[in-house]
Amino acid sequence: MRRITATIFLKQGREASVKRFHPWVFSGAIERVQGEPLDGDWVEVKDSKKQTLGFGHYQKGTITVRLLSFSKETPDGKLYADKILTAFNERVFTKIVNERTNCFRLIHGEGDGLPGLIIDVYNGVAVMQAHTVGMYLDRQLIAGAIKESLLDSVHSIYYKSQSTLPIKTEHEYLLGMGVVPHVITEHGNKFYVDWEEGQKTGFFLDQRENRKLLGEMSKGASVLNTFCYTGGFSVYALNAGAKLVHSVDASEKAIDLTRKNIELNGFDSKLHECFAIDTFDFLKDKKDKYDLIILDPPAFAKHKDSRHQAMKGYQRLNAEAMRAIKPNGIIFTFSCSQVVDKQLFYDTVVSAGLQAGRDIKVLQHLGQPGDHPVSLYHPEGEYLKGLVLYVN
Ligand code: SAH
Repeated sequence: MRRITATIFLKQGREASVKRFHPWVFSGAIERVQGEPLDGDWVEVKDSKKQTLGFGHYQKGTITVRLLSFSKETPDGKLYADKILTAFNERVFTKIVNERTNCFRLIHGEGDGLPGLIIDVYNGVAVMQAHTVGMYLDRQLIAGAIKESLLDSVHSIYYKSQSTLPIKTEHEYLLGMGVVPHVITEHGNKFYVDWEEGQKTGFFLDQRENRKLLGEMSKGASVLNTFCYTGGFSVYALNAGAKLVHSVDASEKAIDLTRKNIELNGFDSKLHECFAIDTFDFLKDKKDKYDLIILDPPAFAKHKDSRHQAMKGYQRLNAEAMRAIKPNGIIFTFSCSQVVDKQLFYDTVVSAGLQAGRDIKVLQHLGQPGDHPVSLYHPEGEYLKGLVLYVN
């Protein structure tokens, strides 16, 4: 365990959120810093009466400290092992890991008490992503904790940085040597995952339950999967008996992977076609072709200042799909922008409906699965929102 290099004293009254277990200390809440911490250092956080509130990683910026412990005791090397084991047991207990699914998110940042850390497990290979310098510096300790907690369930650990990290870090295997691409099984559907070259950690595990639901509605349907990445929703639709599936993504590389995943599941080009094209262009002349349309775009807004522009994007996209879909069709529409909350997304979909002029019902509200948990005290952790719409 690295040593604690500084103490952060909060302004009077600013300890309230930390006492409510919110893990972020904003720069404006800090009265003074004793010591000269560097980005990634472990620091102690105290209130104005010099009482210890917890310990965490320091990094200059709006969020200056991310707390990993709310205890008065100085954390030791067991902190990571304890949290990782708790998270793993939770995934096993809730049956997220089961005989038909061997891939899951093991650590989801704040939701698992480890802000700045993401760990996805793909059939024996753990892929670790650091969103803070502190997590990067602790990567070996974390790798040891994964090995200790998951034992035989993991034979390789790959470290991969996140583009938001302020320093450049080398991607490396911290344990073993996974071979890419690698096959995973999700609710019995097979996929290749390439964590070295793929987006994020290699696969979007957060849509697992929504893909399952789509499968349940796909039998005999013609399906359009836009922003398909490696074809997640497409594979579920085909395995469930869809009569035709079209997959669209702007990235040639993603489309190539989609094609491979379709073949891996035993389907050919008779039932499935891929299009490497912008979704907005693709939708232009597709009226009355599909019974089911999936809209799963990347985060249109990453910051509050781009939110307005993002809303316009979501509105246009949804209106296009609502115009195109067959009568009695179903749209699965999502937003993964953390700065666009549930209500704002809903309101945008309402505007899109009015613009398209169709009669539309909301069948279901969707979200992120149990291996992407949200701490009750950190509502900001909720990012994935979706609606299942029935369009007359
Ligand atoms: N639904 C996917 C994940 C989607 S990620 C799954 O289940 O795995 C978002 C994808 O949108 C990325 O693959 C990205 O290449 C693609 N994309 C981004 N902008 C696009 C656009 N304008 N048109 C089509 N695809 C786009």
